[in-house]
Amino acid sequence: MVNNVESIASVPAILNKGKDWFTSMGSEKSPGFTLYSLSGHVASPGQYEAPLGITLRQLLDMSGGMRPGHRLKFWTPGGSSTPMFTDEHLDVPLDYEGVGAAGSMLGTKALQCFDETTCVVRAVTRWTEFYAHESCGKCTPAARARTGSSSSCATSRAGKGELSDLDKLNDIADNINGKSFCALGDGAASPIFSSLKYFREEYEQHITGKGCPFDPAKSTAWADNHKEVTA
Ligand code: SF4
Repeated sequence: MVNNVESIASVPAILNKGKDWFTSMGSEKSPGFTLYSLSGHVASPGQYEAPLGITLRQLLDMSGGMRPGHRLKFWTPGGSSTPMFTDEHLDVPLDYEGVGAAGSMLGTKALQCFDETTCVVRAVTRWTEFYAHESCGKCTPAARARTGSSSSCATSRAGKGELSDLDKLNDIADNINGKSFCALGDGAASPIFSSLKYFREEYEQHITGKGCPFDPAKSTAWADNHKEVTA
């Protein structure tokens, strides 16, 4: 049996209050409480102990919400290796079944929240570079594709790509996903698939606009948006 600190830390409360108390929280298949790590552009980042099945909307309501004057754009339910969600998913129950049914995974319960000032292509490029760096190079799909996916993201961000590169990027991620020896390969593919699903238009803007629309030096759109949210 492998125990982590979170599991062990929950034992005293269960012994003191009993199994029925513990299972009165959460859902039938995901009973009890757990730790959610709230980070990013939120007013009060930190570790929050809450019943499984709570929603991000409820967690944000209890913790002070997004940073003042800003709104949620995208977030990860279980860290960067899980498919990202958007503000349309604020009411998804954060338990194993609820997040799975909505197309992602609860994973580490690392709720990384990004507001509207964040370039999703930049965030995915950073994550992809991280996975490329961490890859051990053992298995062929992940090892061969790792440079391709990170450089494709970076190229889109730099505005040097072609629109057809986005299908190529999806294809590279598909060649890694489910075909690697360890979960790092799937984790690397997740942010690419999900960001293309929800924010393909933003990738396209980088390519057709020859640069990042969030870069104040390249676009007045960013400046207008920034002015609006900070006013
Ligand atoms: S997916 Fe895992 S085993 Fe394969 S190259 Fe990457 S880190 Fe190594």
